[in-house]
Amino acid sequence: METKYIFVTGGVVSSLGKGITASSLGLLLKKHGLNVFMQKFDPYLNIDPGTMSPYQHGEVFVTEDGAETDLDLGHYERFIDVNLTKESSVTSGKIYKHVLDCERKGNYLGATIQVIPHITNEIKRRILLAEKTSNADVIITEIGGTVGDIESQPFIEAIRQFRIDKGFQNVVFIHNTLVPFLRSSEELKTKPTQHSVKELQSFGIQPDIIVLRSEKKVNESHKEKISMFCNISKDAVFESLDQKIIYEIITSLHEQGLDKYILKRLNITDEKYTKEICLDDYKDLIKRIKNLKESVKIGIVGKYVELHDAYISIIESLKHAGYKLDSKVDIYWINSSNLNDTNINDVINDVNGIVIPGGFGSRGTEGKELAIKYCRENNIPLLGICFGLQLAIIEYAKDVLKIKDPNSTEIDERCENPVIDYLPEQYKGINLGGTMRLGAYECKLNKDSKVYQLYNNQELIKERHRHRFEFNNKYLDIFKKDPNFLISGVNPQTNLLEIFELKNNDYFVCCQFHPEFKSRPLRPHPLFVGLIKASLNKKYEQEC
Ligand code: GLN
Repeated sequence: METKYIFVTGGVVSSLGKGITASSLGLLLKKHGLNVFMQKFDPYLNIDPGTMSPYQHGEVFVTEDGAETDLDLGHYERFIDVNLTKESSVTSGKIYKHVLDCERKGNYLGATIQVIPHITNEIKRRILLAEKTSNADVIITEIGGTVGDIESQPFIEAIRQFRIDKGFQNVVFIHNTLVPFLRSSEELKTKPTQHSVKELQSFGIQPDIIVLRSEKKVNESHKEKISMFCNISKDAVFESLDQKIIYEIITSLHEQGLDKYILKRLNITDEKYTKEICLDDYKDLIKRIKNLKESVKIGIVGKYVELHDAYISIIESLKHAGYKLDSKVDIYWINSSNLNDTNINDVINDVNGIVIPGGFGSRGTEGKELAIKYCRENNIPLLGICFGLQLAIIEYAKDVLKIKDPNSTEIDERCENPVIDYLPEQYKGINLGGTMRLGAYECKLNKDSKVYQLYNNQELIKERHRHRFEFNNKYLDIFKKDPNFLISGVNPQTNLLEIFELKNNDYFVCCQFHPEFKSRPLRPHPLFVGLIKASLNKKYEQEC
């Protein structure tokens, strides 16, 4: 079978959920037996989002092979459950950098370098690269931004050309738009969609499928109108109604026949792929989510708490673990900068468990340390992630081991005892972009640890990293001598401390890696399951 390509564009407004549409479709096609790979084009000029503030961009999602990417890739991975790669994340920055580097090397043999063909050719090469490296049957590419943005025009032009290169039967364009509901007149409006499709047509692209995001049900007359004005058959117009549970988008698109329509349109006729698919796993999950019996309160202590997207994978991981344990997870956002000795008791007593997520820089670290100390002393379940581990090490060094002035060189370069220090290959003044310890590394678990049991007695695990600092092994002996401190896992190649737990606490687990990147709705991550289980127990205890 020839490789098939699906491009997803967005119109009218941003944040329409085209990433969710794209990944739902990816999951449906995967269920049809096709090998699916996904890719995101981002029109900004940063090489990757790695150097952007979480306030600007939300979370930076890290792939197994160490790419720092847009948070949409997290949605893709959670839905299609395929590990994506560097080839999945393409920014204008990457495209221009490559073209300009080639120009400097003289690769273009004296030509004038232009957006068309040089930039558009490079964009097309990235699609082919994704195809080649993934060996997938179907590549789904989401174009970031909204059609009509100046910045995304080269991407739109490139995919227009791509259809000519690969043939009509191999390329599908899906356009996602908004159908707003006007409360005063109580009606849905199709005009913004008509305008957005016109805009797309002005770039030479006729969408094959339109997916309408709306808060109210779209009826046949709306679809007829869109069909007529957008030059598209009525059965190619689908709706994506606001859903309380995002997995209902998968079942709804399937019930409307989106996957069947696409298979037909792409001329995929082999019975192997066209058979009816089974969505029972997701239907069961939806049913379970609707009937959760328990609830548990988890506090996330961070400094970007106003912007929940900065912690999106952690939020999802908590929910996944909750579903497994039949529990709704209510998240309490705790701004670390506002925590102090006076309020810590009240704030933490409100919740049943705590997550200290990753972070950078010194702002808000005192509040995080206070929360860690409180959890340690009061046996409140805690999961510390990356910076969370580093701060827990500092707190333990200071308050339990009585090491003088312990800190991380990231927070205080001149501290007396840098219990957290630069990784060997890192140094002050290193370029910030793409130079951290990134991607998946092995970790060998200690068979005596709780964590080992949580990982189902697996000795060797692989988890994703994104950090520049680490536990300083000069202090290893002091920590090892403490009877309550258990090193639960180390990197077998470098001996770096990857995970520790406190024996006397029910659940006090800190890891240098980011477990949140590997949690899936049907396969929650063991460390989050451990946290929720312990937090449920804590809740019963608190209630008694
Ligand atoms: N700032 C810390 C480091 O660079 C932790 C990073 C993180 O939490 N992702 O090591």
